[in-house]
Formats: sequence, structure tokens, C-alpha cells
Amino acid sequence: MLQQVNGHNPGSDGQAREYLREDLQEFLGGEVLLYKLDDLTRVNPVTLETVLRCLQARYMADTFYTNAGCTLVALNPFKPVPQLYSPELMREYHAAPQPQKLKPHVFTVGEQTYRNVKSLIEPVNQSIVVSGESGAGKTWTSRCLMKFYAVVATSPASWESHKIAERIEQRILNSNPVMEAFGNACTLRNNNSSRFGKFIQLQLNRAQQMTGAAVQTYLLEKTRVACQASSERNFHIFYQICKGASEDERLQWHLPEGAAFSWLPNPERSLEEDCFEVTREAMLHLGIDTPTQNNIFKVLAGLLHLGNIQFAASEDEAQPCQPMDDAKCEGQGVGWGRPCQEDSVRTAASLLGLPEDVLLEMVQIRTIRAGRQQQVFRKPCARAECDTRRDCLAKLIYARLFDWLVSVINSSICADTDSWTTFIGLLDVYGFESFPDNSLEQLCINYANEKLQQHFVAHYLRAQQEEYAVEGLEWSFINYQDNQPCLDLIEGSPISICSLINEECRLNRPSSAAQLQTRIETALAGSPCLGHNKLSREPSFIVVHYAGPVRYHTAGLVEKNKDPIPPELTRLLQQSQDPLLMGLFPTNPKEKTQEEPPGQSRAPVLTVVSKFKASLEQLLQVLHSTTPHYIRCIKPNSQGQAQTFLQEEVLSQLEACGLVETIHISAAGFPIRVSHRNFVERYKLLRRLHPCTSSGPDSPYPAKGLPEWCPHSEEATLEPLIQDILHTLPVLTQAAAITG
Ligand code: ADP
Ligand code: MG
Repeated sequence: MLQQVNGHNPGSDGQAREYLREDLQEFLGGEVLLYKLDDLTRVNPVTLETVLRCLQARYMADTFYTNAGCTLVALNPFKPVPQLYSPELMREYHAAPQPQKLKPHVFTVGEQTYRNVKSLIEPVNQSIVVSGESGAGKTWTSRCLMKFYAVVATSPASWESHKIAERIEQRILNSNPVMEAFGNACTLRNNNSSRFGKFIQLQLNRAQQMTGAAVQTYLLEKTRVACQASSERNFHIFYQICKGASEDERLQWHLPEGAAFSWLPNPERSLEEDCFEVTREAMLHLGIDTPTQNNIFKVLAGLLHLGNIQFAASEDEAQPCQPMDDAKCEGQGVGWGRPCQEDSVRTAASLLGLPEDVLLEMVQIRTIRAGRQQQVFRKPCARAECDTRRDCLAKLIYARLFDWLVSVINSSICADTDSWTTFIGLLDVYGFESFPDNSLEQLCINYANEKLQQHFVAHYLRAQQEEYAVEGLEWSFINYQDNQPCLDLIEGSPISICSLINEECRLNRPSSAAQLQTRIETALAGSPCLGHNKLSREPSFIVVHYAGPVRYHTAGLVEKNKDPIPPELTRLLQQSQDPLLMGLFPTNPKEKTQEEPPGQSRAPVLTVVSKFKASLEQLLQVLHSTTPHYIRCIKPNSQGQAQTFLQEEVLSQLEACGLVETIHISAAGFPIRVSHRNFVERYKLLRRLHPCTSSGPDSPYPAKGLPEWCPHSEEATLEPLIQDILHTLPVLTQAAAITG
């Protein structure tokens, strides 16, 4: 009965299908009604086209959330919809006896997840994986979920008395503007694009109140600090300082109004994210006091001046390249247009607490250790290398600063281990990327997406199908795309793309981009996911991802993977007299591992890929230990316009996340799964009432045992039981999730 109502009947008899068809006639007859379809499993037939039409109709009717079986599809409204996110609505979803009966919403997922944690049988950790391409609304969605839990998962009495009189949920919410100021930037695809991945664990106590949170970040795009595409920007915080500093601060930080900085492109673009006050306020709430904040901003101003140091090529190779004076740099700055009147080296050095001559020398001159005695040689760098070293210094400082901020945030919001028992994890990671020029960053991002897709497939699709097979249920198997071959190609052992790139780093041999291409294509020729690379002009290889083929260029790949930090640069920063930098670059030898000169340290070289792989594996372990929920964010158009649904663009996103496949499985599958133990426990009563529902050898109703099929059943007697079943279903579904 239930299955019919939901249009989920997996059986082969026509009754349920009839129902489904009638239902469909209703909406397919007139496009107008299409928007009423809350669940894509009820679209018939389930094809890209019908799904697309349904989503479009809903979008145009200002309905942004749609269920797709086990996944929630979230269309980006690209306009404020305050009534959709009000605390009142949050409470309504929270209070609903069956939130899944309300309109699809991110709050439904939030509430169901919360109820799973509350399960009386055995609380289990939960996670919500939010995916989608850049600008689709992932960060927005996870922020929205955090706000939801800040409203529903707290009691009015939960004031923290021992710390500052600030409620924990407020502090958790305050972590967002801080992390976004330092980790987000305006890109071509999103004005507020997160340049790092984030997994936040919302920690709950036995009373299901949020008592704290822990943040883990992944792969900050630190190159952005020193290098921005022409129409993009640096991290928001730099613009916030330049626009929001007071007169006094401008003097202290050497940021005269309207000065040009090479690392501050497109400052004229005013964004709502540029609000310095919001960041400062949030930092204060997280326990970062004003002097520490000012120290941070001073160092960031130092980085801007560092970026203005331009070198002139040296005519004599034996002589170091000298910095050009600012007058000669005119036109190099792409900022406000007026060259900064300051001597960049002197100003950068003073803001970073470094001796001017040492700073300059470390950028100009390379130190080489060679021979058995590890003798030190000094070699002046060519102009391009001076630039690289300058950039490296900035990236090193920024990345450490970001990590430090995350740790400060964690110490401010993380609950003591004995004050929480379960958690809800929110994952907001960069979506699948494919650009004309893809490099190591895209390889890592797409690798992460393959892993998450596999987790999704494994959890929902494979587990479901295997379970049916084991139980001998009548079921037509659906072909799903298993992406294990692609993961084998990327990360498998003994040979994979990662292992080959790491090998090049380890051997440290001169190797051209073309050689790397050949090595990859020869060693991995047998992989079905290595694309044919006929049209390649530049050395590259193609990986056929589940979301489509991507060409990765091999030039610079090995170097990026090494991410070399010249040891003298770390040593330079260890000399800083600036309190913040002293903390970020301690002279403690334990800190040195990776920056040790080759030959002095026996520690294995940790490449970007190997570090990323390790953190990804850790993340997946955590995800595997939870009950996952999925939200797929979709961007209706790439211009960020409201009321604009571009079919082509949405289509490629639907394909990339395999949504149709997911709907097929969800539509065809049994919507409710209860473990045998729990089922017997709950409904043994039925057996006593109606012997015919028992599954004896002569019973015509072996497995089902529901009153509806019982010829002797009396509706009146059974009605209370049916009601009971209906009411306990959410609990039972949880039980099924837990007991597997
Ligand atoms: P992503 O993290 O996927 O790259 P964001 O979450 O930053 O994308 O969303 C991009 C922009 O889209 C946001 O800055 C916001 O303007 C808009 N947006 C996203 N989701 C919503 C929503 N539910 N309501 C209103 N605007 C939204
Ligand atoms: Mg984001």
C-alpha cells in the first residue's frame, strides 16, 4: 500500500505501475503541473530529458529543492529567498512528525539526519555530502545546514558559563566568515568561490545539543596569493584590508589609499564579501584579539609589498638580479593604477619583521649544498627564479597562516572529548573541474570527486543491489558505472598516475613533460580509463572520469607535486622578529622535516599528491563510519542570473553526477528497509492476531506478512496496527540504516 502511494513498487505486477502512469498522465498532460512533482523517482520514464524538464518547471515556479530518491537536488536560486530559510521554517521542519512529507528542502535532510543521530536504538554518526560544480551553492547549503542546527540542536539553557559569554553555536557560525575571508576568492565561476575543501564535524552531546565543532580543511589553493588569472582576484581578505583599514592602520600597514599592488588585481570590483568589519568581528568572537588581528593584517600587507618587488634581469650571470625601483615598475601593478610610492623591499621587510638585506639576498641567491661535506655554494638566481622564490615565500607564509587560523578556530569551537558523543559531518568540497588547461590541482580535485562518487555508488547503489541479490528478491539489475578502474588508474598500486608522478619527484631526475606523458601512457596503456591522446599538441594525458574525459598537461606537473620549499627561505622566516611569524615558523628542529636540504634528512619526501591522498583516505574512513546523506547542488546558468535555466548547462551537470542512474535505482528499489530482527520485534503481534500472515510452509504470503494481503483481515482490527506502522516507519528506517 505504502509503496503504491509513493510510486515505489518494485514488483512486476501492473497495479503500482498503473498508479504511476495515471499519476504521470496528470502532469505530463500539461507542463504546468510538472513543477508539482516533488520526487524525481516519479517521473516516467526517467530520462535526462524528463528529469531536466521537471527541474526546469520547478525552477521557473521558484521551487528550488527536489528529491531524487536518496539524494536532494538543490537548484541555485541566484536571488535572495529569505522566506525559504527563516528560523520559523527551520522549526516547522524540526517539529513535523514526518518532515519528509513536507516540501523537499535542505531542512528535510538536516532534520532526518538529526533524527538519525537521535535514534534510540543506537545513535550513529551522520554525514551530509554536498557536491556540485563551482558556484552551484555547496557552501551556501552547508552554511544553511549549520544555521539549521544552530537553531534546532540547542536548548535555550545551553549557555556556556566557563568560557566567554558567547554561545557555542554562534562561535561555530562565526567560523564561516573568517574561513571565507581567508580561503575564498572571486573567480570566473563564483564571486565567492571556496579555494579549499572543508569537512566540519558538528559535535552533539547525549541530549543531541550541539556542544562544539571541528573543522578539517583540504588543499588550499595557495598559489592564488601570488598568481591570479586576469579576471579573477586574490583572497577576499586582501581587499578587505585595503578597503576597510582606518587612516591609522593604513599608515601602520603602509597601505596608502588607492595604491597599486600587483597581487591585488581587479580591486575596483566591489563585492559584498569585502566587508572587513564582519571578518574582524567574527575573529574577535573566535577569541582572536585585536592586537593579534592587527599583526595578521600587517603580515598580509607585507605580502602585498613583497608582490610589488620586481627584478631586473642581470647582465652578468655571476651578479644577482636587482629589484627595480618603483618608478620603473609603473604599469606593472594591475591594482588601482597608481604605483605604490614605497620602496617595496624595505616596506615588505619591515612589515614581515625581517632584515631588509637578508630578505633580498635570500630571494636573489640560491644556496646549494654539495659533496660529502655538504659544502655550501651560493648561486645568484636568474630573474624568473627570483620571482619564483618571492612567490614561494608568500605562499609559505599564507599557507601556514591559514592552517594556524584553522587551528585557532578549532580550539575555539571544539568541544571537550567527554562533552560530545555523536557528530553530524558536513562535507563541502570543490566539484569536478575541467578547464582548457588542467594541472595537478585539477587532478587532485577530480581524484577526490572520483573517491566521493565511489563512496556514493558503494553506499547506495551497490549495497542495495547486493542486498536484494542476497535476499533473493525479484529485481532487474541496473547497470551503474563503477569507477574503480578510474581510481586504479589514478591511485592504484603498484603503478598509477600518482605513483608515476611521485616516482619522478623521488628520482629527482631531469625529465621533460613529453617524457612524463610517454611514461604514463606506456605504463598505464592497459587502463580502460586512459583516453586516446591523438590530438595532443602539448604533452598531456587524458583521464576518462565518471563525469567526462579531462586532459591534464604534464608540463610543470612534477615540480608542482614536489612543491619545493628552498630551506633557506624557511630559515629566513625563522629569523623574523614579528610575533606572528615567530609562532608560525618556530626554530624548533622538529618542525623542519620537509624543508631539510636533500641528503640531510632521511624522511621520505611528502609530495602534494601523497599528502592529499592520505588526507582523502582519512576523510573517507570517517565518511564510511557514518550514515551518509547527499545533496547535489546544480547551477541553472553560469551567469548567476535568477529565473534563468539553461538546459545545456544543467544537462552536463546532471550527466556529471549520474543523477538519472541514482533515480532509477531509488525508484525501483524498496523505499523502506528494516532489519529482520527489528521487524520481528516490532510486528510479532501481527502474527498472533492473524495466523495467516505467518510464513509457514503452506502460507501463500511468505515474506510480506502485512495485513493488506491477508484474506481474513478485518480492516477495523488492523487499522490501529496500520497506523502504528505508518508512525513507526521513520524509526524503522533508522533502525535499518543502523543494523544494516
Ligand atoms: P559553491 O560553494 O558551490 O561554489 P556557493 O555556495 O558559494 O557555491 O554559491 C554561489 C552563490 O550562489 C552564492 O554566493 C549565492 O549568491 C548564490 N546562492 C547559492 N545558493 C543560494 C540559495 N539557496 N539562495 C540564494 N542564493 C544562493
Ligand atoms: Mg564553495
